Amino acid sequence: MNCNPIPEREDWFITDRKPTICPRCKKKEVKKSVFGMPSREDYYEAKYHFQGCIPDFPKPRTWGCCNCDAAFYKDTPRNRAALGGLTPRQWPKD
Ligand SMILES: [Zn+2]
Repeated sequence: MNCNPIPEREDWFITDRKPTICPRCKKKEVKKSVFGMPSREDYYEAKYHFQGCIPDFPKPRTWGCCNCDAAFYKDTPRNRAALGGLTPRQWPKD
C-alpha cells in the first residue's frame, strides 16, 4: 500500500487503498467516509466515518479515521488534481 502524507496537512493522506491501520494514531478505525447525516442503521453499525455537514476542502475524503479524524484520499488522477498544490509534484516511485 502507498500511503503518503500531504505535507501541508499532517492529518491528510493520499493512498491507493483503504488503510487498515491509521498511520496517524495506529488504530484500526479507518472507515469509508460518508457526507451528511447517516441513516440510523448506518450510525449504529459504526461502519462509516461521518464527515458531518461541513465537507472537506477541496474535496470530500474517501476514508476517515473514526479515532483521530485523519482524512484519506484515494490516489486517483482526479483527486490529485483536486488536491492540486497540496500534493508534491513528484511522488516517490513504487
Ligand atoms: Zn487515526
